[in-house]
Amino acid sequence: MSLAGPINDELAAWDRDCLLHPTTHTANHARGDVPGRIVTGGKGVHIEDRDGNRFLDAFAALYCVNVGYGRTEIADAMNDQAQKLAYFHAFAGHGNEPAITLARLIMDRAPEHMARVYFGLSGSDANETNVKLAWHYNILRGKPEKRKIISRWRAYHGSGIVSGSMTGLKAYHARFHLPLEGFLHAATPHYLRRDDATLSEAAFTDRLIADLEAMMLSEGPETIAAFIGEPVMGTGGILPPPEGYWGRVQELLDRYDILLISDEVVCGFGRTGSMFGATHYGLKPDFMTIAKGLTSAYAPLSGSVISQRVFDVLMQGSDDFGALAHGWTYSAHPVSCAAGIATLNLVDELGLLGNASSTGPYLLQRLRDAVGSHPNVAEVRGVGLMAAVEFMEDPGTFKWFEPPMSMSGKISAAMLRRGVIARPMPEGDIIGFAPPLCITPQEVDQVVEALQGAVQEVLG
Ligand code: PMP
Repeated sequence: MSLAGPINDELAAWDRDCLLHPTTHTANHARGDVPGRIVTGGKGVHIEDRDGNRFLDAFAALYCVNVGYGRTEIADAMNDQAQKLAYFHAFAGHGNEPAITLARLIMDRAPEHMARVYFGLSGSDANETNVKLAWHYNILRGKPEKRKIISRWRAYHGSGIVSGSMTGLKAYHARFHLPLEGFLHAATPHYLRRDDATLSEAAFTDRLIADLEAMMLSEGPETIAAFIGEPVMGTGGILPPPEGYWGRVQELLDRYDILLISDEVVCGFGRTGSMFGATHYGLKPDFMTIAKGLTSAYAPLSGSVISQRVFDVLMQGSDDFGALAHGWTYSAHPVSCAAGIATLNLVDELGLLGNASSTGPYLLQRLRDAVGSHPNVAEVRGVGLMAAVEFMEDPGTFKWFEPPMSMSGKISAAMLRRGVIARPMPEGDIIGFAPPLCITPQEVDQVVEALQGAVQEVLG
């Protein structure tokens, strides 16, 4: 069987016949009605498919290929490690060189009060780990009933049973009987969608905080272990928090002895222009969930970074409860950790935090100039190199397009025809941008021109 030419058609058939894709309509895909593509290569901010099409990827795949595609430094590091030692487990105190070195690099970059990292494979599993560690911490403190977790509507924390319970998107709960008991959701901190149009942004924050405190008091703070939040909500629509929000949430958590899990899967390693979202907003988390940008997705790897105060309590574990009965086969995988080391070095060498701080505001300004005054544009928002444009049929009366995602689906398809990938995001009509952190202003111009053309084509 040749791997050139017509094999591609057979490959497409194998894809339909053998593969179940995430978040893809099963029957439509099996029938060949889903306009996916088989991606074969990438360089910088571009990907290529098997038909020779080239696209500027303005979403870094799933906001993860932060250093850009085709970095041979990372591929070489993985190759070297695979040849030397592809795998040994990290159970019962076993270590490997790249995992230990990467842990050091992470701790050097994390806020000073963070103490250790536990490696996993995905953002979802790292969030499961965080919940178990929060429970473990409270059991060791003699507070086993302190177990509930507060998340927020429109949050995304993963697709597992626990992480999916913390996710606040209805589609991830429906039919799975989620969320599990004890997983609560507070209101979304999105000023545009306040239910009272007369509220100022400061008054909106006041209301969010009052409602969150009321939830804590009615549940009983002695039953609540942790609050989990993305510093900037990602999948829910790229939502920078309203003025003053995070400082006030942190005050409540401190007051009621509730741990903070900062889900940095998207924000971590430079997307906001700061190393972490927590540092960007002055938070003091007890856990940071890291993944995506940690390896720029060159290999699967995640981490739960824990604070000194949590670690101090874990240190008190008795002989029968000192070991954490929680381990993934691939924790601290040497090849993934080698990819992580090479990635973090590249983030420094390429000055990607600086680029996110300078090219990010340029992207936002260009988006505002291009479509901000369009009658169907309700909001153009962003921070660092993440931005979103939200569309409504009538922003003045908060009238949505029906059904949700119909316009954003058409606009992103029209952008694709112009050679640019942007992401339609759930619950409304939102187009999200989160390009590789190495994007240049000239490439930003191409992205914005594609959006402008697409909006003109779809909405007039
Ligand atoms: N947390 C956040 C904030 C995410 O955006 C994601 C994935 N998009 C996850 C957790 C879950 O990560 P994974 O898909 O690697 O399980």
